[in-house]
Amino acid sequence: MIYEPYFTEEHEQLRKVIRNFVEKEVKPFVEEWEEAGEFPIEIIKRMGDLGFLGLRYPKELGGQGGDYFTSIVFAEELAKCGCGGFPMAVAVQTDMAIPPIAEFGNDDQKKRFFIPAVKGDKLAAIGISEPNHGSDVASIETRGRKQGNEWIINGTKMYITNGSRADFVTLVTRTSDEPGYKGLSLILVDLDSPGVSISKRLDKVGMRSSDTAEIIFDNVSVPEANLLGEEGKGFSYIMWELQGERLISAAASIGLAESAYDLAYEYAKTRKQFNHPIANFQVISHLLAEMKTEIEVCKELTYATAYRFSNGEVPSKEISMTKLAAAQMAHWVADRALQIFGGNGYMADYPIERIWRDSRLNRIGAGADEVMKEIISKQMGL
Ligand SMILES: Cc1cc2nc3c(=O)[nH]c(=O)nc-3n(C[C@H](O)[C@H](O)[C@H](O)COP(=O)(O)OP(=O)(O)OC[C@H]3O[C@@H](n4cnc5c(N)ncnc54)[C@H](O)[C@@H]3O)c2cc1C
Repeated sequence: MIYEPYFTEEHEQLRKVIRNFVEKEVKPFVEEWEEAGEFPIEIIKRMGDLGFLGLRYPKELGGQGGDYFTSIVFAEELAKCGCGGFPMAVAVQTDMAIPPIAEFGNDDQKKRFFIPAVKGDKLAAIGISEPNHGSDVASIETRGRKQGNEWIINGTKMYITNGSRADFVTLVTRTSDEPGYKGLSLILVDLDSPGVSISKRLDKVGMRSSDTAEIIFDNVSVPEANLLGEEGKGFSYIMWELQGERLISAAASIGLAESAYDLAYEYAKTRKQFNHPIANFQVISHLLAEMKTEIEVCKELTYATAYRFSNGEVPSKEISMTKLAAAQMAHWVADRALQIFGGNGYMADYPIERIWRDSRLNRIGAGADEVMKEIISKQMGL
């Protein structure tokens, strides 16, 4: 089914190509990557060579020149690989760490950071969260002080996806004594710089094929030229970045939910109890109908909001609604799917338990459910 007017025949061709890649080059290895706690770095290069990391970016920046919906297709299809971790790590690269460079960076920064990331030659991370500051981005403490032609950076970043292996991080840093959001800037930091250390590789409930780190910056010297855009504009830049991140998170939630639904559907038709496939119990068939309905509702909302975003609008209320609804839906669908699997659903041998664990994160990352509700209710005049 083609969802008009959002997707065209070309998008569906792209969907097939990505689906084929996922089936052949990702799915068979997910188990191994989950076990290892990371995916092999070579797959980033492979995806760069295939053009997947720059689908919607201009050709002169190494991208494929596609529209925003090519990224939606990519996020949905990659999320069907059988886990949430690897797709999340890739989304950090394509839709979180590098969009601010494309939008606010200069030619030199695009050459040094953006193009290598799109080509898969560099792995990127985004550094917002800190041990004591997550939802309240305006309060972060990591400090950059100007010294000659350099920024000297001190602080700690927490829960950084790709953090233990990334080549660079798009870092939210306080660069003046101005309190709150006014003092923040974005600085691109090479993670092999002296003074950068990975203090912890974090152990997680889910998303295990993606590595997550705490990173310490101890007097890290960064060239002045790595300041992204204007000094003091970091908060507005990162709030802009979060809008795209939330839409891609919604698309990934949809992909994850669809894979949970597909597994539950097949299982319900083959698993027999009381001499009948369990799908014959009305309570199960109606549950599947409800799961499918919730997925479709979120698809329509996501596509409609992404359409506005792709046409230059930044409808933050609707983006927050989309992210909230899709994240809640995905975890709800995964939970119901696990129920349909019964005891098998609770076993590590069946893929549904991983989707259930992984889908939980989407209600916390990229802005927790409660933060989305705050944004929405404020814009409702409450
Ligand atoms: C696996 C994983 C990967 C991540 N990757 C990255 C990454 O790559 N880069 C990065 O910078 N960060 C990353 N994060 C951090 C993530 O963005 C934060 O966890 C998230 O923003 C919430 O911040 P917090 O954990 O500090 O929770 P807190 O801000 O301490 O909030 C705790 C809870 O309080 C409630 N709450 C908070 N604020 C409000 C409010 N205004 N109104 C009502 N309730 C509220 C919510 O229920 C929230 O869940 C990652 C996190 C995880 C778990």
